[in-house]
Parts: sequence; structure tokens; C-alpha cells
Amino acid sequence: MYKDDNNVEIVTINELNFNTRNNITTDDMENNFITEAMLMLPLYKPITINPKEKNYKFFPYNNLKIECYCNLCKRRRIFTFYNSRYAFIDCSPGSSSHVETVDYVLKKCDYFKIIGNGECDHSLIVEFKVLSSNKIIKIGQYPSIYDMNEEINNKSFIKELGDEFAGYYKSACSLYSFNTCIGALTYLRRIFEKLLLDTFCDNRENLDITEEDFQHLRTDEKVKLLKKYLPSLLFENGFSQIYSEISNGIHNLSEEKCQNIFPLLKSALEEILIQKVELKERENRIKAIASELNKL
Ligand SMILES: [Zn+2]
Repeated sequence: MYKDDNNVEIVTINELNFNTRNNITTDDMENNFITEAMLMLPLYKPITINPKEKNYKFFPYNNLKIECYCNLCKRRRIFTFYNSRYAFIDCSPGSSSHVETVDYVLKKCDYFKIIGNGECDHSLIVEFKVLSSNKIIKIGQYPSIYDMNEEINNKSFIKELGDEFAGYYKSACSLYSFNTCIGALTYLRRIFEKLLLDTFCDNRENLDITEEDFQHLRTDEKVKLLKKYLPSLLFENGFSQIYSEISNGIHNLSEEKCQNIFPLLKSALEEILIQKVELKERENRIKAIASELNKL
């Protein structure tokens, strides 16, 4: 993989070569490990893998390409991964096409890394530590999980939050990517509470409760009260439970519990923001039509 296999300290991307030796194609070449979802997984969180996966379905092979977000280009790009020598398929005569499984390689190594190069010539590198034959953790990634996250970097609805709360959103996603989930959830909860208060203020004439009394309600009670004005997705199975969980105070929840709640609460608040954007766009369309009509 490296120009000099003995050099374990230096990786110079433009000196790497794509090894096309024994680059064969079989019907089941699809890589089950290197995916955009894997690149989004937080550091230091154990990742369970199938120890009996064929090497070439786990390590990058056959000039594996995946599309992911490049924060330098601010758009999605195709990244090609340097072929791993662990995924080598020996097709020489008499070799009986011997293919090793992942556990066989992981037993022999403590760390491994994968390197991809974008069509834009920006590169990415991910390093892993092997914990056992079926468990690994990510110990490093560049660009960071935060930078590779298209949602944080490129979503227009984040503007709806204003600078202060957009900052909280980025901090939340960043902490989550470092597996610091109680802190991450604390930020998300603050945004969620703000969005509930905004929704209350926008509709206060239809609600039979003062702002002060509203502020004293538990999160789950606020959500219930605002049901008519919130996206219906927020009331589907699984969501209702998270509101009572976060009502009890995030500091009582375990890291693991916070990790489970985080993606759900994140989708809930994104739904609210998306609905806000859609409502604004609709209002603008109606205004535009009205002004056109006035000209007639
Ligand atoms: Zn790029």
C-alpha cells in the first residue's frame, strides 16, 4: 500500500500508488464495511464487525469508490480508496483462489488505516484500533466526522436557528462525533426547547396558557400542547418516549442512553426546522402571487 512498507510514520498521498495487481471482479465484490455511514460513526465507540466477512468485502479493494461530502469543495465527491494488501485474492494457478476472512487478518494486527482520494484530489484517512476479532474502534479521522457531515455544513435549514443556536447545533454534532453524548444531547435539548418556545410564541393567541406557565411545563407536556403546530413525524412511535426521557434531566441519563436518544431528537428538531422553512417558502410564494395579481 505504501511506497515504502517499512515507513510506518509517513503517509504522502501523492506518492501512493493504486495497486492494480490481481484486480479481479467477482459478483460479490460489494464492500460491506467502507460506507458513508461508517465514515459518520463517532470515534472511540466500539464497532462490531462480522469476523467471517471475506477480506475483500471489508478492506478496500478493486479501487473501491464511494460518494461522500467534501467540506473543502462544499459538495459531494467520489472518493477512491487505495487497495489494501490484506484484500489480496491469490488467483495464481494451484492457489485454489484462497480468500482469507477478516478475523484472520485482525488477529495479526493492532491498528490499520484506510485512505481515500477524491476526484477533487482532496484525501481522507481513517485509522482504527483492533479490539478483538469482531470489534474495532475508530481512533482518528481526517477530515473530521464533523467536517464530512453534509447535514451540518450544507443544510439551509440550520440558518433558521440564528447564529447562537446554529453554534449549539454544530457543537452538539461535534461532541456526538467524539462520543461525548451527554454533552451533545444537552446542546440539542436547548435547541429543542428554543424551538418549542418559538412555536408557542408564534401561536400564542390560539393557546390557552401564559408564556410563564408554558415555560414551567415538562418537555413532553410542551410537545403535547403544541401538537397541532408541530410536524406529525414528532408523534410517531419512538419519538414520544424520548420527550419524557429528556424531561427528567439529561444528567441522569447514561452516555449510552444519550447516544440512543441523540439521532431521534436531532431528526425531531430538524423536522421542525424544515417545516419552518417550508412555511416561509409557501408564504413567500403566496406574497409573490398576490403582488402579481395586484399588478393586473
Ligand atoms: Zn474536495
